Amino acid sequence: MKILRTITEIRATVQAARAEHRTVGLVPTMGAFHEGHLSLMREARAHNDLVVVSLFVNPTQFAANEDLSTYPRDEARDAALAEAEGVDVLFAPEPSEVYPDGFATTVHVAGITEVLDGASRGIHHFDGVATVVIKLFGIVRPDVAYFGQKDAQQVLVVRRVVRDLNLDVRIEACPIVREADGLAMSSRNVYLDPDARAQATALSRALDAAHAVHDAGARDAAVIRTAALEVLDGAGISPEYLELRDAETLEPVATTRNDTLLAVAARVGAARLIDNHTLRGDA
Ligand code: AMP
Repeated sequence: MKILRTITEIRATVQAARAEHRTVGLVPTMGAFHEGHLSLMREARAHNDLVVVSLFVNPTQFAANEDLSTYPRDEARDAALAEAEGVDVLFAPEPSEVYPDGFATTVHVAGITEVLDGASRGIHHFDGVATVVIKLFGIVRPDVAYFGQKDAQQVLVVRRVVRDLNLDVRIEACPIVREADGLAMSSRNVYLDPDARAQATALSRALDAAHAVHDAGARDAAVIRTAALEVLDGAGISPEYLELRDAETLEPVATTRNDTLLAVAARVGAARLIDNHTLRGDA
């Protein structure tokens, strides 16, 4: 596996592969790999000739009060894990390579970025995500890019940019990988002390409870939401948000007729955690 740090190098590697009609899969990440990241790499490996993983803790998607400086970083460990998955190239640029002096462009997606994590973290968050993802697509020019459904709103934002800007890349969304007790894997789970780690299981239990109410026939969003809220309350968690929204448009829903995203964000101990389920519609 090659570790490349410059745009010139990664372009040369990808162009050589393209000249031989090899397909290119990209997995964008911020590192601190866990099974969620590795599942995306496996999917990319299974379907592409050249697999590129980007490792870049993107400063523009963090607010000033967020965890940019403490975000877990261990490139040597990440490189070993990626290599074991058969990744061909780890693209790990410095911030100055991605954002040189004079950088002045932001990609802003309206509407779907203004709710859930966009409302909770601020509008800069998805501006930063959309901008860096478009840059990575421009640098690597992948045939396919792999994202986790863990960040469901991010998947929608990336799909919207690709559609609106006519980018020639296919977006694959991969299922959420969970710990044995249901906690969605996240690089930020390392912030959880033992008490908070136990408390954190309430997020997935809350979504499971709401999903069960939906599966039992409930269609009233308030009823489904209450089932989740009761579990969070029982664990002493008051969520930043717990919402049911249309899985495509992110419009609020009163009744779950179509596919509905049930999404939660909460502070648990020192971590801010997110999780979601998709409730399948009747149509
Ligand atoms: P991150 O490094 O947290 O930016 O995540 C990189 C990619 O891995 C994103 O597309 C995430 O949605 C995805 N990802 C993170 N956690 C999980 C998980 N538990 N299951 C599946 N995908 C995940």
